[in-house]
Formats: sequence, C-alpha cells, structure tokens
Amino acid sequence: TYSYPESQALFQRASRVMPCGIYGHFSPAPLIPPEHYPFFTAKAKDARFFDIDGNEFIDYMCGYGPMVTGYNNPEVDAAALDQLKRGNCTTSAAPVMVELAEYLVDLIPTADWAFFAKNGGDITNYATMIARDATGRSKIVMFKGGYHGVAAWMQAPGHHGVMDQDHENILRVDWNDFAALEAVVDRHGDDIAGLIATPYHVPTFADSEMPAEGFWNKVEALCRKHGIVLIIDDIRHGFRLDMGGSCEYFGFKPDLICFCKALANGYPISALVGSAALKDVTARVFYTGSYWFSAVPMAAALANLKLMKAMNAPRIMLETGDKLLTAMVDIAKTYGFDLKVTGAPSMPYLRITNDPSLMLHQQWCAECTRRGAYFTSHHNWFVSTAHTDDDIQRTLDIVDDAFKAVKKIYGDRF
Ligand code: PMP
Repeated sequence: TYSYPESQALFQRASRVMPCGIYGHFSPAPLIPPEHYPFFTAKAKDARFFDIDGNEFIDYMCGYGPMVTGYNNPEVDAAALDQLKRGNCTTSAAPVMVELAEYLVDLIPTADWAFFAKNGGDITNYATMIARDATGRSKIVMFKGGYHGVAAWMQAPGHHGVMDQDHENILRVDWNDFAALEAVVDRHGDDIAGLIATPYHVPTFADSEMPAEGFWNKVEALCRKHGIVLIIDDIRHGFRLDMGGSCEYFGFKPDLICFCKALANGYPISALVGSAALKDVTARVFYTGSYWFSAVPMAAALANLKLMKAMNAPRIMLETGDKLLTAMVDIAKTYGFDLKVTGAPSMPYLRITNDPSLMLHQQWCAECTRRGAYFTSHHNWFVSTAHTDDDIQRTLDIVDDAFKAVKKIYGDRF
C-alpha cells in the first residue's frame, strides 16, 4: 500500500505559509484518516493522476467535478492553446465568447442567452440578484444542506465569518418536502424573489436524494403561480445527466441555470443561462470580474462541449458508473457488507450501511485510496468519459482487496 512522505512534508511547508495548509474542499480535514491520502499532484492524464510521491491513482473525484473528458484532453487543450497564442485576457472580448454563448443557447432548451464568470458561486449569487431585481422582492428559498458556494448567505448559519444578518433574507426548507415549501410560500410568497436548488440533493456525509415523484413539476408550478424565479444550481450535476441541463433529465423548466464544473474540463469558467423573459433584467444588473473575459477557458469550454455532445458524454458516464457500481455492490456483498449507492451513477454517493457511524466506510475508502482508487467518504464521487474498462477492472480488483483489509479490521463486529 502507498505511503506519502513527500505529500506530508510539503503539507508541513504549506502550513507555515498558508492558513490551514490547504484550504477549502481540497483540505485534508474531511479525508479520514488523512494519512491514507495524497495531498499534492505531480501530473495527471486521462482518468489517472500521480501524486508527488510517485503513487498512481484512478481518480473518482475528478478535481471535485471539473474533469469530465479526461485530464489533459488533447482536443480541449489544443483549442485552449490555440486561443492562448492569439490572446487570453485582453482589453476587449474575444469572438469565442459569442461563439460559446451561441453554442449554449443552441444546446440548452432553457437558454435564450448566456453570461460567463469564473466560479460557481459567482453565478449562483448573480442569479439571486437577477431574481431580486426582476421581482422587487428580497427573500431566497433554498434547501437545508444544499451547497451553492461560499458567499456568506450561502454558507450554513453559524459558520465562522457569517453573521445572522447574512441570512435575514434566506428561507430554508427540507429537500423533497413540498408541503413545507408550500407553507413557506404561503407565509412569505409576496417577499420571495427566487428559489435556488440543485437538480437532486447532494449533502456531504449523507446519502444523495433524488427528487420525489412529481416534485419538480409541483415546484415549477408553485413558482409560476407566485412569480418566484426558479434557479437551478447545475454546477455539480451539469452535463453529467443531460447535455441540455439536468432539468431535461428530470423534465421541468427553470428560469435560470447555473453551470460550472464540467463546462471546460478544468479551465476556469462558469455560465449563467436563462429565459428570454429575464434577458433585459440581467442586462441591467451590473456584474463582472477581472478574469471573466479570459478567452482561453471559453475556447476550452466550446471544444469540450462539442466533444461531450458528439460522444453523448452523460450516457457514457451513466453507463460506466453503473457498470462500476453494480460490480462493487456485488463484491461488497461477498464480504458481508451492504454498500448503498445513491444519486446518479455518473456522480454517486456511497455508504456502507453496516456501520452507521461511517467509520467503517471511511476506512474502506481510505484502503481503496492507498491501493490506487481515489475515493472520498464524505462527498459524492465523479465519473468521467475517460474512465476505461481497464480502469474499472483495476478499480474492482482494488475494491476487493480493500474489503478484504477492512474485513480483517472490522470483520468480527458484523
Ligand atoms: N453549487 C454546487 C452544487 C457546487 O457543487 C459548488 C462547488 N462545489 C458550488 C455551487 C460552488 O462553486 P464554486 O466552488 O466554483 O464557487
């Protein structure tokens, strides 16, 4: 099994000059036990990466989503490099911005226009500003445990640096609880500007939850009735369920859709698309950033979207995920473990239900990782179109081996 002396040493160096060494979602903190995980990548190609200790991993986190057509995809990189040679961050916008907007408007049924930024949180925040300006109302409804970025209003109440006032205009309801949502709308309807939600629920350290039968159609109808702007945060799910946006997969129509992660295979860009009715409002809500016109990520996004569309990337990822997960569940069973899979196969959340404390599950993920299949226990995984049959077979061998190791540690307890 792998060890990580170089990662550990570099993390010590990082901790001297950076708050908490590595911040945010790349922090070692949720990787349990952290000594079983690498912290720094030396190089990556297709569905694999090498850490700075020289260990090789089949990657099931895909950079937490942005990698979708393989690390260093030659077609995406060629388009990016070609644009780079002509200019990236220039004083006026590059034509590729318009081409990308046209492409998104053609690709996504909800989209009558597109707007570009860098991070997912730029766009979810913008969507709420547009909803407020369109309605003249102040409140935003979201679902408890939903993640939309790091602005103070998006973070859970009680987080460091977040004030009660930041949540004054936020109303939280339980996912899939339509009656609760209706009650909130009954009480606050005239003050509610927008409702923001992911296409299905993806809390951390918990099972993913699909929408209940008819949930989205009821939510859509409720929003229409009360003039509430329906915002879909498709930052994580986008292009892993349907190339037209995840609302196509679930069969409903939002007003605004936020895209980011899979858009450009790792190049920094996010997009807001929306209905014609909100185009003029969007035009008057000022929003911009230093790098938001960078042309290289736009060229990468255009190439990546064309590539994904041509190969029907969501279908490939759903099928690959399904193949992997079905076999994993069977392997688990032979060792007496109940491996529960939730969410779509292209971005599944897994949990071993034999031990509700998650300790056994965390140990198993770590045992897989230190054998070369990078799994996290707290977050949904991601499949890419670059995961080959060889990758899947190698992963299943690792999974088998890791169950054997966990059985040795926990076996007599179950
Ligand atoms: N919404 C969802 C559903 C996400 O998964 C993320 C990122 N994990 C965001 C919003 C925020 O995106 P970013 O980190 O790029 O601001």
